[in-house]
Parts: sequence; structure tokens; C-alpha cells
Amino acid sequence: MSTPQQHKLHDIDINLIEMTLDIMKYVIGRITDTDPDLGYFESAEALKEKVGETITAKGLGGEKAFDLWKTVLAPACTVIDHPRHLAFVPAAPSRAAIMFDLVTSASSIHGAYWMEGAGGIFAENQAMEWLVSLTGMPEPAFGVFTSGGTAANLSALVTARETWRKNNSGNDSKRGLLITSSGAHSSIKAIGKVIDADVYLIESEEELKANELQNYINQLNPEDRARTFAIVATAGTTNAGIIDDLNGIAGVCKKENIWFHVDAAYGGGALATSKTRPLFNGIKHADSVTIDPHKWLFSPYDCGAVIYKNPSLAKEAHAQEGSYLEIFKDEGADGFNPSDYQIQLTRRLRGLPLWFSLAMHGTEMYENAINRGLELAQIAGDKITEHPDLELVREPSLSCVLFRRKGWKAEDYRNWTYKNHKDGYALVTPTKWKKKDKTYETCARFCFINPDTTVEDIEGILSTME
Ligand SMILES: *Cc1c(COP(=O)(O)O)cnc(C)c1O
Repeated sequence: MSTPQQHKLHDIDINLIEMTLDIMKYVIGRITDTDPDLGYFESAEALKEKVGETITAKGLGGEKAFDLWKTVLAPACTVIDHPRHLAFVPAAPSRAAIMFDLVTSASSIHGAYWMEGAGGIFAENQAMEWLVSLTGMPEPAFGVFTSGGTAANLSALVTARETWRKNNSGNDSKRGLLITSSGAHSSIKAIGKVIDADVYLIESEEELKANELQNYINQLNPEDRARTFAIVATAGTTNAGIIDDLNGIAGVCKKENIWFHVDAAYGGGALATSKTRPLFNGIKHADSVTIDPHKWLFSPYDCGAVIYKNPSLAKEAHAQEGSYLEIFKDEGADGFNPSDYQIQLTRRLRGLPLWFSLAMHGTEMYENAINRGLELAQIAGDKITEHPDLELVREPSLSCVLFRRKGWKAEDYRNWTYKNHKDGYALVTPTKWKKKDKTYETCARFCFINPDTTVEDIEGILSTME
């Protein structure tokens, strides 16, 4: 039998205190660094060469392991909140949110059940109430924080599919079908595989319109029509920031009696500002909505959110049963159990960093920071239009800007991306855009999230295309 003396994993000794101070110093240094190195990946072989075998029977010691992190491993990661990281959908967590992520870890709270996480879940729920209020969804609409947009979309679409099956026992043996547009995020197709449903894509150049959806439904054969359990609209396509005609699509879904899911994983942040909120007109009619606070609401990874018009349907779809879980459903422990509304059981209180940052700064500061992203996209659009060698592919939407360098081919964009990244200057990646003749053109793309990106940063990046 081991005694407490032999098992030292939790010892508080001088080594632990020194390591803790080192880590706090490093964290403070990192979050106050307004000009961090961008970072650049290395191959696994190169990293192995430098780091060696780190998992050993006796351990390397904190100092050595942390030193490997600082000198080799961290520099091989790209810093997502760098002001010139404008690729994919970047992130720019607030410093308050990052610090509270440390508090969330240090507090060791199980976030699945009220009985264990009441105080933290209460705080998460206040942040959630604000998110729900931005959508305008009526009571009893509510939601939970998830690990990201994929998990939020999956949780919503499982609820849609279960509701469709519950409403007609004949559907139990049917394979479901969900309909979305070609602009939808890749996670929707991935979810089709996970839940063994078909995903039909309506080809759309720009936003998906109500009449296109209605025409598409009208031409379905009766079998396909009967197994259609959800329509997914996108509110801010990841590639170009395009918002589908939510109000019109809501009308079609209501008439056809089909679940209406809105994927606003990226665009949802723009609900928080009065400048762009009207673009989401109709979102209040959704049966479910996805918003990623780790994209445009300045939360650290990972934090998504799913909101339901009728949370009890989600509970029927997701609540897990088990003898060791029964106590959580007891009246004495009555309260809101986040695990009942999404696919995950044990969960981190991943909405807490958002809550603290919102509580500390107030929602106006969020509105201003999001407005700056919108403004940067407009400024970039103007600079591109003025530039003799550059052209907009389409007008900026939300904070996405698609543009071309006249005369460049796909490989020119690729080389340009790698050079800027390798130089430690910027990460801006190419994308593809469908032309009128249905062929695809490679072009450059900015996505602005970080309010600390400057006009000089934009000018500097554009000048690397000369
Ligand atoms: C990013 C994104 C997702 C996926 O979200 P993750 O947090 O990466 O899982 C889904 N839908 C849209 C529209 C997105 O932009």
C-alpha cells in the first residue's frame, strides 16, 4: 500500500511554489505583450530533435519541462490573437477572460450539474441571458455553452432529429435529411456523417433566399420531403460573412413545419452591435441558434453556445440517465443542469471567462470592439479599391474581405501566405470564390476580429502584394 508520503503528486513544496511563480510571470508577460511573435510551425521530427523524450519515469522537473515549452514548443504555435493574424476566423480573447480561464481551471468545478456547479452555472447563465437577448428569441428560449460551434450545431441538430422522430413514430426507421446551402460551414456535412443523415446543399452564389428554399423543397420527391427534419441557415458564412435571408427562411420553415436552425458561429458576435443587428432580422424565429463566443465575443478557446427556442426539447434529446447520476435529478439538487442540453456530460464551465469579462467591462465595450472589426473591414475595402494592383472580389460583409491581386495565380497567393508567415509578419491565407461562370477563383481574404489591428497593419500587408 502506498502511504501519503510516497505519493507526492499533490505536494506543496518549494518546487511547486517556484513553478507557480514562474508560470504566473510567464502568463502576465504573455497577456500584456501587445506585439507577440507570430510563431511558425515545425515538423514533428524537428521538434523531437530539439525536445527529445519528455515523458519519463522520474520526470524532467518543472523548470526543464517549462523551458522546453518556452523555447521550442510555444514558438512552433501560431499566435491567434496577433494583430496581423487575419486568416480563417481568428480570435482575440480579452485579457480579463484569459485570466478568468485560469480561475476556472484553478477552481476545479464540475460544470454538468447544478448540485456541483451552482455558482458557476448561475454566472454562465447570466452571460447566456445576454446572448439570448441579442437574438430576440422569446421565453422560454435558453441555451448552454459548448466546446465550440461544431458541438453546438451537433447538439441542435440531434434535438431537431429527435423531435422529428418523436412527432411521428413512422420516422423511427427513416434516415433523416437536412437541407442547407453551399455556403454552410463544413461542420454541417460532418454532422450528417455523425448522425447518419443526408445533407442536401442548395447551390447559392450569395445568401440563401426564401424562394430558392421553397422551390427546392417543392421539387423534392415525397419520400425526401417526409424525411426532411431541419433547415440550416447561415448567419455569417465563414468564408465571406454572408447572412442568409433569415426572415424569409423562417417563414418557409413555419409553413412547411420543419426545424429552423441558424448557424451564427462566426457572425453571431455582430448581433451585439446595433450597426449590424438588423441584418439578422428573423433570427428570433429560429428553433435553435449557434454562436461561438471564442470567435467574435473575445472568449478564449474553447467556447461555443447553443440556444433553443424550446429547451425542454433539447432536454428530452440529451439528458443522460444512469444510477450514479440519479442524485443530480433529485429535488434537493434541483436547478439548471447544462449537461441536459448538449452532447457532453462532464464539462468545464467554459462560459465563465465570458461572464467575468462581460461583468467587468460591460456590454458597451463589447459593442465598440465588434464595431472596430466591422470598421477595419470597410477601411481595408477602401484601401483595396484605391490600390492600382488590387480589386475587391465582392463588397466586405461583416468583417470578411475577399480581394484579388491582379494577375496572381493560386500559387502566387500560396507563396505570399507562407512568406509573410515565415517572416513572422502576418498570417493571411487565400480562399476560393465561385465566379459567375461557376468556376472557382483563388483570392485573398481578411477576417477581422482583433480590435487592436491597425490601419498601418492593413497597409503593410497590402504592400507585401506589390
Ligand atoms: C467556425 C464555424 C463553425 C465551427 O465552429 P467550431 O467552434 O470551430 O467548432 C460552424 N459554423 C460556422 C458558420 C463557423 O464559422
